[in-house]
Amino acid sequence: MAAQIIDGIAFANQTKQDVAARAAALKAAGKPVHLTAILVGGDHGAELYAERQGDGCRALGIDYTLLKFPVSISQRELKNEIRRLNKDVGVTGIMMHLPLPDHLDTARLQYEIDVVKDVEGVNPANIGYVVYKHTLIAPCTALAAVELVKSTGVQLRGAEVVVVGASVIVGKPVALLLIEQEATVTLCHIATRDLMAHTRRADVVVVAVGKAGLITGDHLKEGAVVVDVGINRITLPDGTRKTVGDVDFESAKEKASWLTPVPGGVGPVTVAMLLRNSVRSAELLK
Ligand code: NAD
Repeated sequence: MAAQIIDGIAFANQTKQDVAARAAALKAAGKPVHLTAILVGGDHGAELYAERQGDGCRALGIDYTLLKFPVSISQRELKNEIRRLNKDVGVTGIMMHLPLPDHLDTARLQYEIDVVKDVEGVNPANIGYVVYKHTLIAPCTALAAVELVKSTGVQLRGAEVVVVGASVIVGKPVALLLIEQEATVTLCHIATRDLMAHTRRADVVVVAVGKAGLITGDHLKEGAVVVDVGINRITLPDGTRKTVGDVDFESAKEKASWLTPVPGGVGPVTVAMLLRNSVRSAELLK
């Protein structure tokens, strides 16, 4: 079977249209969406990335403010900035560009972000809400992976799903979101004894590890839906550099029914989910 390719760029574009319509409705109701991003001591590349993010937001009718702080900012000062943004009724969403300098405790600062304004879904309370089936804001990459699985139309209720990679930001929330869909979820990680034994019986495989080519066609059941979250930069024999996922695309496409490419799969949808979460935060605050 030659897999159908799940087009992340098309999915992201559709999501952005929906985001623009919802942002316009909020603006018309006098409740504009306003995302504030925090950047600490970023180099030129980080600033450029953050500014491009601002352009992307404004194009959809989302106001965007980039707050830049010197690398010397203390934990207490940054915590107070976040608390100030939490209280500011004109700010509907807050996100922090990573990495932060080593002297700052990223997790502790993420815990400070108001749960409703937490557009990246990084406050642990937001994972707790997923567990209790009251999802407010889920982490963007996990949401992107799950949305792409759903976009294939696969029946998730009762499906065997294997998630490979158990990180806090991707693998674990993907597993929780799929449990919410009543799938039977197995979460594999570095200590899993026989990875192939698990993936081979899965109707859906989501891979988020960071190892190029970890999952091949041999790991898959015929007709599986495969979503590849991994992003790896590899050097080809001729010296050129290439971005690939964790799934060996060529062999996997002979077995899978649906497969995401890298690039052009989960990546653009993650960006779109940040925008969708931004609108959702503003709607929740309304
Ligand atoms: P991480 O390093 O935090 O976690 C990796 C997980 O993989 C761990 O749970 C580990 O136990 C597991 N693992 C490692 N080796 C394994 C093996 N041989 N077999 C099974 N499991 C194994 O990584 P992360 O932050 O979750 O990121 C994973 C990948 O997803 C990376 O390539 C990252 O660049 C990519 N990513 C992509 C996006 C996106 O927007 N597309 C966003 C975030 C992360």
